[in-house]
Amino acid sequence: MSATLISGKEIANKKKSEIAAEVEALKQAGVTPGLVVILVGNNPASRTYVTSKEKTCKELGMHSVLIELPETTTEQELLNKIDELNHDEKIHGILVQLPVPEHINETSIIEAISPEKDVDGFHPINVGRMMTGQDAFLPCTPYGVMVMMKEMGIEIAGKHVVVIGRSNIVGKPQGQLFLNENATVTYVHSKTVDIKSITKQADILVAAVGRPYFVTEDFIKPGAVVIDVGINRNSEGKLCGDVDFDQVKEKASYITPVPGGVGPMTITMLMYNTLKSAKKALAKLQNA
Ligand code: NAP
Repeated sequence: MSATLISGKEIANKKKSEIAAEVEALKQAGVTPGLVVILVGNNPASRTYVTSKEKTCKELGMHSVLIELPETTTEQELLNKIDELNHDEKIHGILVQLPVPEHINETSIIEAISPEKDVDGFHPINVGRMMTGQDAFLPCTPYGVMVMMKEMGIEIAGKHVVVIGRSNIVGKPQGQLFLNENATVTYVHSKTVDIKSITKQADILVAAVGRPYFVTEDFIKPGAVVIDVGINRNSEGKLCGDVDFDQVKEKASYITPVPGGVGPMTITMLMYNTLKSAKKALAKLQNA
């Protein structure tokens, strides 16, 4: 058996054209969705992410602002900048590219962003709203996975979902979003005993580990849906996921590739969240 490929790239392109059309309609109504991305310091990977966010924003007709601050920026200076942007009516989404330099407290920064402009979905208000099933900005990577599932018509209710990883930005919210869709969810992590005995029970397996080729065919139940969130470099410096794609594709029913899988969805959902925020701002203006 060879699995059906879930092309994040194709799904992302479809979603992006829908977003571009909505951006155009909003502009006609007088509001241009605006996203500001703040980059502190010179982390090369962060710079690559920030550049592609800016590019996508422009492609979709949004107002894009990139603020580059030196490595020496103090926490207070960054907080002041965020406060200014929280009050800027042209800005609907604020994203501080993580990680920030060590002398800056990440939690203070996340909590300083207005929950109404928190398009990354990391603010505790949005996390709490997601947990309680209320309207919220959902974190872009796990949200992108849910959109892929929907687009592929993959049933979730009643399925056993196993998530490998429990980070605040991927693993934890990923399990929560599946739970919200009535799946039965199990998390496994670095302290889990006998991971394979659990992953083998998964109807849907999500790998968010950050280790190249961690998931091999012996982790998989035949016919499982396998979602690979990992973005790693292998020993030859080539981009790869957490899943040994060549092995696992023979056993899975659906599988995401790396690159071209979850990655393109993440940035698309960021654009979606910015659009959503701008729509809310317009509704507020109209109701004022
Ligand atoms: P992270 O914060 O490092 O979390 C990794 C998780 O994997 C942790 O919960 C850790 O367990 C678990 N883990 C590590 N080694 C393990 C092992 N040997 N067995 C079982 N579990 C293990 O990473 P992250 O931010 O969630 O990112 C995960 C991967 O997704 C990375 O490759 C990252 O680059 C990628 N990513 C991709 C996108 C995208 O757009 N596609 C977005 C974000 C991240 P403990 O909690 O016990 O330490």
